[in-house]
Amino acid sequence: MVFPNFEELKNAVSIFHIRHRKNFCSSYKKSSSWRAVCATTGPQQTPCNWSLSAAKLKGTTNQWKIKKVSTTHTCQNVFIEGGMDRVCGSDLIAALVTRKICEDPHYKVKHIQTDVKNEYGLDVSYRKAWYARQKCIETEYGKFADSYNELPSFLMSLKATNPGTIIEFDFTPSPPSPSGESAYVHFKYAFWAFKPAIDGFQYCFPVIGVDGTHLYGKYKGNLLLAVGTNANNEIFPLAYSIVDAETAASWS
Ligand SMILES: [Zn+2]
Repeated sequence: MVFPNFEELKNAVSIFHIRHRKNFCSSYKKSSSWRAVCATTGPQQTPCNWSLSAAKLKGTTNQWKIKKVSTTHTCQNVFIEGGMDRVCGSDLIAALVTRKICEDPHYKVKHIQTDVKNEYGLDVSYRKAWYARQKCIETEYGKFADSYNELPSFLMSLKATNPGTIIEFDFTPSPPSPSGESAYVHFKYAFWAFKPAIDGFQYCFPVIGVDGTHLYGKYKGNLLLAVGTNANNEIFPLAYSIVDAETAASWS
């Protein structure tokens, strides 16, 4: 049986063990070979000789193949609470629910707990499910910090490809690191008003409404918004700004 990479091989072995309520652990792991053995232990257990050997295929990029599975588990099932913790970590849960998170951004931690319970019969702690969700999001969409790092180039591209759109942003240098370097910057403000919105304001009532709302992501901050009202009394968004806090300085 061939797997596209080691992670998928290990996930498949883990799911097999979860379904059969057994434990396993790595006996050794090298760059091109892996051996797993039974890890079910307890006072009632007799020695179990289950083992699995796999190797990375030569001449391929990352493919792994199961070479040998010796016997079946002769140990008793693991039903004790937390007994599957060794097999079912947040990495595996992340792999199990990645597709659902990609399809539905509103897939919440409690949904992970419910689905893993329904499909695999496992109780997953909120903490572990939360970590799994974070790993999925970072794998699919990148890390929050990386997104902020890419913001300047994204805004410059937005400006270059949308003539007439007004964009301004501000970063403040971070304190020098212990090594004396100050290469990193901290995001402070970003402001943008799309050209069609600017052009459209001439058809709105000559009144601008402004308000702000808190951002509830990892890095907090505020979203400030300026809107007009068109002839149908509909809200017409004019300009947006993400700021560190709602202050007189950030509003101006
Ligand atoms: Zn066993």
